[in-house]
Amino acid sequence: METYQDQFNVWAESVEKAWDQLDEKVKQSIDERIVQSFEGKLLGFKELLEQRTSIETLQIEAQTLYHTWEEIYQSMDSNRGNQMNSTPLQPVPIGGHRLPPLPYRYDALEPYIAAEIMRLHHQEHHQSYVDGLNKAEKMMEQARKTGDFNLIKHWEREAAFNGAGHYLHTIFWNNMSPKGGGEPVGELAHQIRKDFGSFQQFKKHFSEAAKNVEAVGWAILVWSPRSHRLEILQAEKHQNLSQWDVIPLLVLDVWEHAYYLQYKNERKEYIKNWWNVVNWPDVNDRFKKAKELRWRPY
Ligand code: MN
Repeated sequence: METYQDQFNVWAESVEKAWDQLDEKVKQSIDERIVQSFEGKLLGFKELLEQRTSIETLQIEAQTLYHTWEEIYQSMDSNRGNQMNSTPLQPVPIGGHRLPPLPYRYDALEPYIAAEIMRLHHQEHHQSYVDGLNKAEKMMEQARKTGDFNLIKHWEREAAFNGAGHYLHTIFWNNMSPKGGGEPVGELAHQIRKDFGSFQQFKKHFSEAAKNVEAVGWAILVWSPRSHRLEILQAEKHQNLSQWDVIPLLVLDVWEHAYYLQYKNERKEYIKNWWNVVNWPDVNDRFKKAKELRWRPY
């Protein structure tokens, strides 16, 4: 089991690696002051790590490094055009997900959320989703290598539960801030008024959805690229066998209504034959569009 300090080490390394691998042309397009501030903070952070500084200090410094890294991304986004698409981000290796550092101190959200909750929630709960997802990915990789898919249902469930847990918490930490509250402005505010009537009505709907999640789960505001509207959804547990924050590219309907008239109970036959009608150019098109969304890798 890695210590929190090790996690910081790995995180700093991955940031540095991602920076090193950025295309020179892209680097030159970023505001020089941002680059200097980023490089300075990265260096400072690595020194602190070597000195085995306290976790509290690391937490604060990670937060400022995180924000400059964020600025780099934003700056690339605003210059991007097609340029960004040709710049590979470091993908997360199979079984290589990491706990992202909290972008503020554990006590930063007090009095609304106690430091004790934040520490436990982040260090223990989120970490266990990261570990569980890594394990599931490794086991599924092994199944692909050996051809033994006997436990595939189990590992798919584990990947969905822990993957959704990891991705949702990664969004959740950043969805909150010690300087938060109030109402949104700009484009989002406009869209909320358009889709829910008013901010108050949105807030009421979202709160009711959250209150009424059966057992455990989430309330989630989503953007639907399909309907071009915002919507509010609930997730029971984290997933119900999906992972939030992923984009479907290729889907196969295995409800009986999709094959029963022709195949009866031979689902296997239906699946085998289905591969003959897959429209790969369409899948490729969805893939290219999906790749335009680029979150920071964790
Ligand atoms: Mn949680």
